[in-house]
Amino acid sequence: MEILEEINKISEMLKNPKLEVLKEHMWDKESFDEIISSPVFNAAFPERLLNSKFREMLKPFIFEKGSKTIYCRRYISEELEEDEENKENDENSSKKFGYRYMAITPGMLETDNVYFENLETSDARSVLDILYKPYFYELCSDEDLEIGCEWQKVVLSKNVGNEGANGKKGRLAFAASLFQFKEVYIQRIEKADPDISYKLDDITIPADADGKINNVMDKFFKNVSESYLMVHRVGQANCVSGYNTMADGSNKCFAFDVGFPIDINLRFSTGGQIDKAATGIYDDAYVGNILAPDLIIISHWHQDHYKAAYTLKRSVFNGKSASEWIAPVCAQGKCNASLNRLIVFLAKKQKIFLVSEKYPGYSQTSGDYIMCRGKGKNLNESGLMLKMNNTLLTGDCGYENWQINQINAAKPNTVKNIIVPHHASGKSLKQIGAVPKELQKAAAKSGRDKAVICVGYNKWGHPNKNVIDIYEDKNMLKFRKVLRTDDKNLNGNDFIIKDK
Ligand SMILES: [Zn+2]
Repeated sequence: MEILEEINKISEMLKNPKLEVLKEHMWDKESFDEIISSPVFNAAFPERLLNSKFREMLKPFIFEKGSKTIYCRRYISEELEEDEENKENDENSSKKFGYRYMAITPGMLETDNVYFENLETSDARSVLDILYKPYFYELCSDEDLEIGCEWQKVVLSKNVGNEGANGKKGRLAFAASLFQFKEVYIQRIEKADPDISYKLDDITIPADADGKINNVMDKFFKNVSESYLMVHRVGQANCVSGYNTMADGSNKCFAFDVGFPIDINLRFSTGGQIDKAATGIYDDAYVGNILAPDLIIISHWHQDHYKAAYTLKRSVFNGKSASEWIAPVCAQGKCNASLNRLIVFLAKKQKIFLVSEKYPGYSQTSGDYIMCRGKGKNLNESGLMLKMNNTLLTGDCGYENWQINQINAAKPNTVKNIIVPHHASGKSLKQIGAVPKELQKAAAKSGRDKAVICVGYNKWGHPNKNVIDIYEDKNMLKFRKVLRTDDKNLNGNDFIIKDK
């Protein structure tokens, strides 16, 4: 690979401390242009990279010269399949579903290939790590572009144009720090060179790591002397960060879900108010840029629980402080390309520990801290749940699928605070009948405090009023406060939970 050779040549130069800026901001939206035109970059990178088409190819959006060629293909994912299923099952659904395609520029394709092919060799790795972090890139259209699972060359332009185009409208989304969106026109779709290969396709998603998970959990949940949780207001998505002070005085930060509300049509789910989303309609919309957890637990692989992962700081992915991740196993061939890239990246660095369906659960010896999987089948209902000292984090797992015996085993009735499952959806209301006995018993004893609903603009009627009533009802769950993350009148402190 030519690029790897070039990169190796400059590896020495990259040790120059002046290049810290490059290390931190490669791929970053604001800094990308600045960096590639900066003297530092110019001094470090050889002529070929500077003046070749490489950097142009790598950039996710560029239409100055009229059009841009990318590669696309369809992908299958568990998430998309479930969406399709829901659409079929919901006769009243007026929701319009976009056609989603994996997208990659020729430069990205080459970079991915170089990266994943050479990650094993330590010399190259130190350099590659500087240049690379997992990113998200997809194309969608309201119309079927008739792109199958084979690579197609797709020529895009900023305007409708007149080069024999079919002129269908599409949207590109890219994230390696902040999410960016671009409206485009599809000018041409051609068969791609059959020689195109994508190394990532040949890498197997790692099997479960059940045996290793409890060791990781112990680092964060054994001997906690004090802990706080912060529920971030990220719109129709879940993101909770936790801050534990350990008995030895050290501090540990973890996240339970790092979600972002990017909908099926590759838009911020804000009722079309993209600008507001991008400029802070959510207090914590840029949570990814401030969070640097040591551990990231993903309850399940739905976008509103993991998509902020692409916005996380570079230090989360590379270097000594790189985070460890725990998440359910993702079925091979059933996750989208961007997610595949993220998981494989973390797996190659041995930073992700995947939980199997048979995971027996984690329980810290005193029974304060419990992690287990839901008993159900689909992504929501088989998701991970975490019980802290007095707070239950539920992801999207419906009540009937809780491992209530595990959650309640060692220290029953210690659920004082709860992050309400599945945005307090009406669907969860149907299941709530399975719970009140357990929760009500606990309610009487533990002095229910906060029930927090993670919610933002959405088309599904979340949160369901009846669910809120149940949490507030003195005869039912009787929480002192039922909080919604979309309530603009609440103080940020309302979303801080003292867990221990
Ligand atoms: Zn979900």
